[in-house]
Amino acid sequence: MKQSSFLLPTLRDVPSDAEVISHQLMLRSGMMKQIASGVYAYLPLAKRVIQNVESIVRDEMNKAGAQELTMPTLHPAELWQESGRWDKMGGELIRLQDRHERNFALGPTHEEVITSIVRDFVQSYKKLPMNLYQIQTKFRDERRPRFGLLRGREFIMKDAYSFHTDADSLDAEYQNMYQAYSNIFTRVGLTFRPVIADSGAMGGKDTHEFMALASVGEDTIAYSDGSDYAANIEMAAVHVSDEKSDESQMELSKVHTADAKSVSQVANHLDVEEKNIIKSLLVQLDDEFVLVLVRGDHELNEVKLKHAFHAKEVRLASEVDVQDVMNASVGQIGPVGTKVKIYADFAIKNMVNSICGANETEHHFVGVNVERDFQVDAYGDIRFIQEGELSPDGNGTIHFAQGIEIGQVFKLGTFYSESMNAQVLDENGKAKPILMGCYGIGVSRVVAAIIEQHHDENGIVWPYDVAPFHIHLLAMNSKNAEQKELADHLYELLKSKGYQVLYDDRPERAGVKFKDADLIGIPIRLSVGKKANEGIVELKIRKEGEMEEVALQEIEEALANKVLELKGQA
Ligand code: ATP
Ligand code: MG
Repeated sequence: MKQSSFLLPTLRDVPSDAEVISHQLMLRSGMMKQIASGVYAYLPLAKRVIQNVESIVRDEMNKAGAQELTMPTLHPAELWQESGRWDKMGGELIRLQDRHERNFALGPTHEEVITSIVRDFVQSYKKLPMNLYQIQTKFRDERRPRFGLLRGREFIMKDAYSFHTDADSLDAEYQNMYQAYSNIFTRVGLTFRPVIADSGAMGGKDTHEFMALASVGEDTIAYSDGSDYAANIEMAAVHVSDEKSDESQMELSKVHTADAKSVSQVANHLDVEEKNIIKSLLVQLDDEFVLVLVRGDHELNEVKLKHAFHAKEVRLASEVDVQDVMNASVGQIGPVGTKVKIYADFAIKNMVNSICGANETEHHFVGVNVERDFQVDAYGDIRFIQEGELSPDGNGTIHFAQGIEIGQVFKLGTFYSESMNAQVLDENGKAKPILMGCYGIGVSRVVAAIIEQHHDENGIVWPYDVAPFHIHLLAMNSKNAEQKELADHLYELLKSKGYQVLYDDRPERAGVKFKDADLIGIPIRLSVGKKANEGIVELKIRKEGEMEEVALQEIEEALANKVLELKGQA
């Protein structure tokens, strides 16, 4: 491709509205243009990278035995009503009407459509297991579209759905996809980690998210340094201890705490450590108000709370609700003397002589002891794990890292097949709901994640296998006949050898060409300059920065060796 006629609108300045590196670099390197908030045109350079990522995804999915199809992006409301998600999805689902005022949605994901296909065309267990996938544009009206391709409202996803008659077969396919995902993310050059994740509201149980490690990642990963344990912090279990101080129990008494309400204010006021305070939070679990207790230096984890007590929804009560239910205000409520149901984190069990709100303005209790002063209806592991704690599997210490969710594998079970009546006949001719799994990869997000991990102060540094071109050929002075002739010759030669070459034939200064080359980040740079008359060109690997002179007759061998090095096979 000749750069003089290639659509590549590079920018010198960092666009002011782009907060993260991948967004900045994609705009600066002329890869994309924002068309609306969270909606982008992928310009030719980006398109080439996307296609490379897609072909790696296709290759691994096909090898894993999945079959590609294409489903529509326009979904009739009826399908979403069948699964119940027309109402559940809320504002994220983009809805529209046709000229007959029939309701449609733009597909944010395709469980409903694929289930409707399989239920109509697969009647016997003999066809199963089966895994169907597509690579396609998805629409989600995200509350906060941001960070360029990391969170768009229109983005590219690879989504796959598997169908089974029994749990063993689903387990096997889950492992198969887990392996395929590991292969895909390795091949696109990402440093990543699969983590235990929350299954959310969609039924199902087992699920892992694949996280690309990056400081801009919106998810926190809790991982052990002594084992392979890693979980999204939403789900990370806590190693429960039964260590209890043997301090003798004090008498319960009420103290004046003025306007101290938060844990730190109360701790300051009474000159005690935060871990001696019981934090009491009124929470609405589905339709019921429950007083939830965690230790003062711990944080309530609402996802774990939901799982521990099998609730569908968890919501912190409003100030008005707290006043109504507890007859006291936020920060001054507590478990002693209340009739409200009490759920507590396991750590509460081991507290001795603690402090809690007295359900009375400006007062707290001190010398509080569980069982003697109040009863807990149920205990659970409902707090966030902290850095430095023992790993839940007992091996190693927990550390935190930030991650970008690039993919997720998920055992759906029968959530969709039951609500949408997708059944097969088993060996005995008996109708059974089909077991399902689903597996997503954010293809456009992957491209941004690659840039987050592969860049330096001058621009992008593409891994070879996803790079938009293999070689960036620069004619330093296109007006010089000798240089131009050699560069033209190399361009044809390299193309004929199967390299994808971007040829900077523009009448620009050398400095401009070098700057653009660094910004765009093509792995190998060949520059034809003053030594063209001696048949010598300069070769530079973007990642390394060392320049070497290569004679024309050695160029093919030199390139072949560099490619092996870049692919990590030398
Ligand atoms: P998130 O928690 O980041 O909103 P999700 O869990 O809702 O993502 P899934 O439904 O699991 O996303 O979709 C599969 C994959 O699609 C995700 O793992 C992610 O890589 C990608 N993805 C999801 N939402 C977006 C988005 N708004 N922009 C770009 N990629 C996305
Ligand atoms: Mg997800």
